[in-house]
Amino acid sequence: MAREFKPYPFEPKHHPAKLPPLRHGADPQRHPVVIVGAGPVGYCAAIGLARHGIAVVLLEADDSVCVGSRAICISRRSLEIMERLGAIEGFRKTGLPWTGGRSFYRDAEVLHFQMPQDDNQKHPPMVNLAQYHIEQILLDRCLEMPEWIDIRWRTRLTALRPHDDGASLTVSTPLGDYAIETDWLVAADGGRSFVREALGLKLEGTSYEGRYVIVDILMKSDRPTERLAYFDPPCNPGSTVLVHKQPHDVWRIDYQLRDGEDPDAAIEPENVMPRVQSLLQMMGERAEWSPIWTGIYKANALTLPRYREGRVLLAGDAAHLLPIFGVRGANSGIDDADNLAWKLACVIQGVAGEWLLDTYSHERVAAAHENLSQASKSTEFMAPPSFAFELMRTAVLGLAVKHAHVRSLINPRQTSAITYTDSPLNVPDDPDDGFTAGPPPGAVLLECPLVWVDNAGARRQGHITDLLHHAATGPAFTALHFMRTPAAAWPLQALQARLADDGILFNVMPIWGSAQDPNDRAFALYGVESSALYLVRPDGHVMARWQHADVSILATRVERTLRSLA
Ligand SMILES: Cc1cc2nc3c(=O)[nH]c(=O)nc-3n(C[C@H](O)[C@H](O)[C@H](O)COP(=O)(O)OP(=O)(O)OC[C@H]3O[C@@H](n4cnc5c(N)ncnc54)[C@H](O)[C@@H]3O)c2cc1C
Repeated sequence: MAREFKPYPFEPKHHPAKLPPLRHGADPQRHPVVIVGAGPVGYCAAIGLARHGIAVVLLEADDSVCVGSRAICISRRSLEIMERLGAIEGFRKTGLPWTGGRSFYRDAEVLHFQMPQDDNQKHPPMVNLAQYHIEQILLDRCLEMPEWIDIRWRTRLTALRPHDDGASLTVSTPLGDYAIETDWLVAADGGRSFVREALGLKLEGTSYEGRYVIVDILMKSDRPTERLAYFDPPCNPGSTVLVHKQPHDVWRIDYQLRDGEDPDAAIEPENVMPRVQSLLQMMGERAEWSPIWTGIYKANALTLPRYREGRVLLAGDAAHLLPIFGVRGANSGIDDADNLAWKLACVIQGVAGEWLLDTYSHERVAAAHENLSQASKSTEFMAPPSFAFELMRTAVLGLAVKHAHVRSLINPRQTSAITYTDSPLNVPDDPDDGFTAGPPPGAVLLECPLVWVDNAGARRQGHITDLLHHAATGPAFTALHFMRTPAAAWPLQALQARLADDGILFNVMPIWGSAQDPNDRAFALYGVESSALYLVRPDGHVMARWQHADVSILATRVERTLRSLA
């Protein structure tokens, strides 16, 4: 349910349908991977697989990137992923970075929050940019890799027959229908997933009743980029209003519908315009404005119990639906794609057993449960599902005006990177190693500035996550080898060569104490005493870590861990 008033300041390109050369109504080539759905998740899965040397067919029912008002807030973790996918530039160029926000109860400010941010960080905690920008940036990246990614526009999956070694698909296009055979199918076909329905899979969880009107407007304003939340504001008593700035003078205004309001009528201009006008007046915005788009939003907190069904893997909104509060929908789907791409590539390339894909489901379902728990708490505050929740919220907001200690209850719980605490891939810490700091197995790297000399002898400044960007094609594991005093690196280099012979890409990145970490930040953050090795997965999660000065022993441990994937 949506209304478009005028075009966004963004012109999507429309792509025609094309048929591959067909034989007897079928694509004669059997494909290693078909991805259904070119939304943020489908694009990320396609780019991830392509970077790992796997060719994909990407099916999209539509003829362009999305239109309308959807995701706008992209997290630091997603930006790290975008950097590894080679797509960060567009986010830097177009996105509006921000670090915090403010909440008001009636006319009093009751919370000024900051997301984690310090000078160790490479990326801001969040950037705002519209989903059509996000998709366009990812599409442009796909188009740089035509030998790996074959996008088929206006091509809708209409039938699916899974079997033991793949799936048989039927697709419909304006030029006719045809059949496709694939070894693996990735379902990134969104909230109304055809694949999910075709397999008879059921989402589990809660659907909330409260509704929000989503309004995008065009307005020039110098107001900084931050999240603004107004509870029971004088301009719209009894309601909750969220305001976000987007690039190109677009503003997102979300307001809660009061009980009994008709959602159809609520998005009509005669109802939207006065409410937006009185909000802008209350905020002191005097510039002219015009509506672009209105829609209705209703929160769902749902997930499938598992994301792998034989040769079919589900990701993004097809696998889980998360409330917008805390901005976890696209962000968690991007993480799904990042987790899935290296694992599927390892399985297809024969360096890991199919069981590795069960860890995709295990880790990402656990992540969904954590996301659902956080997002549900945010939703209960933003759209109280019962009188009791409403009462509690009013009490908290009322107390927060005077008492600072209750203000944390208003915190919007913005998304943050998830630790795979009980992943079967984690090698538990050896208690004798005595790490007192640093990311444990299952966690993402802690960001930290470093300096190093590159292959051309030039001194470079960067961050620890830069060490994961290898030129090599393939899912590469990384050893971050911290050393205070120079040690013979040959056992790790010999291992690197041995593993490469068996198709396992593994890079060794030495971090010399005084040379690369002059202020001792990385050594302190990673809890390194004299020397240690962090073994990092291609998706930037720590798999194992050991404190040991003997490089041969470290090499043996790394080899045992990586060969156990087979
Ligand atoms: C108002 C609103 C605000 C939001 N804000 C945020 C936010 O700030 N941050 C955030 O992280 N998330 C946010 N979200 C959630 C985010 O939009 C979704 O989580 C995200 O779009 C999911 O991406 P996806 O790729 O899984 O699915 P989609 O984006 O839905 O993409 C699915 C694609 O599959 C295609 N498709 C569907 N069926 C077929 C078929 N049978 N054959 C071929 N193609 C098919 C569709 O055309 C579509 O292109 C918001 C959502 C809404 C509604």
